[in-house]
Amino acid sequence: MKKGIPASKGYAIGRIVIKEESGLKIENTYVSNVSEEKARFERALILSKKQLEKIKTKTKHQLGKGKAEVFESHIMLLEDIEFAGAIELKIEKEHINAEKAVYDIVNLYMETFKLMKDEYIRERAMDIKDVGDRILSNLTGNITSLGNLSSNTVIAAHDLTPSDTVQLDKNKVIAFITDLGGKTSHSVIMAKAFQIPAVVGMKDITSYVKNGDLVIVDGVEGIVMVNPGKELVEKYKIKIEEYGIEKEKLKSIINLKTVTKSGKQIKLLGNIERCEDVEQVIKNGGDGIGLFRTEFLYMDRDAMPQEDEQFEAYKYVLEKMKNKPVVIRTLDIGGDKKLSYFPMEEECNPFLGYRSIRISLDRKDIFKVQLRALLRASVFGNLKIMFPMISSVEEFLQAKEVLKECMEELALEKREFNKELKVGIMVEVPAAAINADEMAKYADFFSIGTNDLIQYTLAVDRVNEKVAYLYNPMHPAVLSLIKTTIEAAHKNKKLCSMCGEMASDENAIKYLVECGLDEFSMSPQSILKIKQFIKSYC
Ligand code: PEP
Ligand code: MG
Repeated sequence: MKKGIPASKGYAIGRIVIKEESGLKIENTYVSNVSEEKARFERALILSKKQLEKIKTKTKHQLGKGKAEVFESHIMLLEDIEFAGAIELKIEKEHINAEKAVYDIVNLYMETFKLMKDEYIRERAMDIKDVGDRILSNLTGNITSLGNLSSNTVIAAHDLTPSDTVQLDKNKVIAFITDLGGKTSHSVIMAKAFQIPAVVGMKDITSYVKNGDLVIVDGVEGIVMVNPGKELVEKYKIKIEEYGIEKEKLKSIINLKTVTKSGKQIKLLGNIERCEDVEQVIKNGGDGIGLFRTEFLYMDRDAMPQEDEQFEAYKYVLEKMKNKPVVIRTLDIGGDKKLSYFPMEEECNPFLGYRSIRISLDRKDIFKVQLRALLRASVFGNLKIMFPMISSVEEFLQAKEVLKECMEELALEKREFNKELKVGIMVEVPAAAINADEMAKYADFFSIGTNDLIQYTLAVDRVNEKVAYLYNPMHPAVLSLIKTTIEAAHKNKKLCSMCGEMASDENAIKYLVECGLDEFSMSPQSILKIKQFIKSYC
């Protein structure tokens, strides 16, 4: 039995597929038979090309010619004589294995591309990495992408990025376990959206399991059992059944209001990452959407979604929620959320660096596309716009200024939008919480983002399992900042919500209710459980 951090609840019994991080274990071995090694490389090249042709055709059918073009460029690279030639020459001259030669040449190409002045060419560095990963996975037989999996797969990975997670085939993947990661990393947040168990921060699980191993994943206790005996499997089959029955039972309270013993009504809303998640919020009787993490619209694709596409996405969610509040947060990339087509420089402290609203204010071209789409969608429901990672009044006003610019443009174009639209901020930087009284004079509402607020307050990286024991939502400093924020909001007659994972943490709920938090926003799967908890214990 191996222990890790219980990150997404539930149980699963399935077979392991190890997702190798390309480049992670590339060995450098001496080969005496150079022509055999070159032939091995050739075979991997041909196989990669065949796979890409298939993906290209499928993409063309499903998403159109434009989207399929990226795979055409990947195929062209595979056909490029200079690229293949450089790898073969390296094998021949240095007597090294094909994996190492591919790895070195791909890195050399990437470095060269990254130095180009032309942004478009610079961004192609990621395409080269993609192609390199494919050849390497065909050489090693390990999986580096998450397509083409069999049913009942448990993914074991050193780490899973949010964009890896977004690609998971929900019908095939029933759980994931990782060496790295913390409870509030974004891949975990996605696991919750997919309603699959996840155990993270297992340190060395990828070297402990093999492809095809039978495992039981217990996302409640945070344990993984490898090649368990029959009895244990039977025990967990019963647990899976009971867990399902428990979930069914909760449905009986779906139409009841969430009222505390003293009669205060609490609103429970859902967090969503993709448009289709809205169904889960409705199914679980959510009072609205307290956080739409729009960056997930930008993932698992090869270019930024444009205004019309975004407009359709927001309109869909707003219409589905009828007139219930829908808080849509503007793009929040950086930190652990990367876009393959938007390369960002390596930084020493990515969570403190170029991320979130800082990118939006720096790249107004990208920001305005989203704001225009949001404004256009605002007439289809009860939209509220929220800016992430605001650390000062000035920063908030700058963001509002860009919004105003978009409003003026739309007015000139005679397009409709809601002029009274509420605009709020995420309180997730301690500076915003400490200065909440001042912030509340400008913002229409607050939503406390505890996932980041805790990491910044306690100086504990939220995705680093080595310091996970210090990531304590109930730390007095965190509780004090939360209280200050709620009080400041109320003093200024503003609404205060919470959309970090703490909003569904049973250890914290009582304190939050007592502080007067107005709204709790969480993974839709948690809504009924928390409703029951508040009705029984608060
Ligand atoms: C938060 O920081 O609490 C939050 C809700 O935002 P995210 O988890 O997307 O950073
Ligand atoms: Mg955050």
